[in-house]
Amino acid sequence: MLEEISRADAGVGVTVAVHTSAVTLPILTFGTDEQRSRFVPPLARGEAIGAFALTEAESGSDAGSLRTSATPDGDGWRISGAKQWISTAAFAGTFLLFARTDPGTPGARGVSAFILDPEHVRVTRTEEKLGLNSSVTNDLVVEDAQVGRDRLLHEEGKGFRVAMATLDGGRIGIAAQALGIAQAAYDVARAYALERRQFGQRIAEFQAIQWKLADMSTQIDAARLLVYRAAWRKQNGLPHTEEGAKAKLFASETARRQTGEAIQILGGYGYTKEFPVERYYRDAKITEIYEGTSEIQRLVIARSILGLGERVMAQG
Ligand SMILES: Cc1cc2nc3c(=O)[nH]c(=O)nc-3n(C[C@H](O)[C@H](O)[C@H](O)COP(=O)(O)OP(=O)(O)OC[C@H]3O[C@@H](n4cnc5c(N)ncnc54)[C@H](O)[C@@H]3O)c2cc1C
Repeated sequence: MLEEISRADAGVGVTVAVHTSAVTLPILTFGTDEQRSRFVPPLARGEAIGAFALTEAESGSDAGSLRTSATPDGDGWRISGAKQWISTAAFAGTFLLFARTDPGTPGARGVSAFILDPEHVRVTRTEEKLGLNSSVTNDLVVEDAQVGRDRLLHEEGKGFRVAMATLDGGRIGIAAQALGIAQAAYDVARAYALERRQFGQRIAEFQAIQWKLADMSTQIDAARLLVYRAAWRKQNGLPHTEEGAKAKLFASETARRQTGEAIQILGGYGYTKEFPVERYYRDAKITEIYEGTSEIQRLVIARSILGLGERVMAQG
């Protein structure tokens, strides 16, 4: 679904991806019965949109260093802090937000996950971006928001497990988003090459253009197989950390390259807003950055294939 939506508009793709895999699924997976029946139906009906608030100004890939605090207060907590680049925050009805419940435990172990309402947060900024313009990206602050135990998702101090499980699955969605963008760019380039005439023939008859299209088609097929394998493993309850990271790494790099090649095939028209490929080019780049940069995906893959250490505590 995310592949097809992103083939039309990657910004809508990420809005759906965050809403489903980064907010609704973790509540379904880690929530109590009460949390599931209270928060999931409005999300499923589309009455509330979900936002996933992990990143902070000083805490990106190294998500375990986050500083937003949740201080014990009566039977609950008082949450304070600032989050940065949170997709859809300005329109969200349900926030999954990560805060440090144990200031004495640095790193991932002192972090917990909370379910917040719009009343708990204040959106402070809307980012101007290179692309993905149909998705809104916000900074927000939480100022002494008082929440009860009913807002804690999963156990205290186990928020990072929630975040990492979420990102393991979310990466497959972003890989599908990248695949959709690459496919859209290829579709436009192929159609254009079969129509545009130069030197008395269609440009698709030049071998240089044929090879570009052959490479694009091959790499998109390879990306699709990696994405579908990862999705199939997740669907069947099999481990999918390595497969999801490989799918995201390959599909996002493919999308970045292919959208550039599509512009090349369209020549000057590709650089104008008359065709959508310049938008695909701008949208593709983000897939190499969010839900874990390409460098972080390589880290995850390397740890997995080498059997080294703990799971990588990086996001994003
Ligand atoms: C449009 C957009 C939407 C976003 N939506 C959300 C959202 O909804 N929720 C949310 O919580 N976050 C969101 N983010 C944040 C996003 O997940 C982070 O930008 C991303 O995780 C990278 O963190 P950073 O930008 O701080 O980069 P940094 O972590 O500062 O990385 C900078 C560079 O250093 C590299 N690097 C860092 N650590 C290592 C390492 N150990 N080894 C090798 N290289 C390394 C990185 O790969 C990168 O090239 C969004 C960002 C954008 C731009």
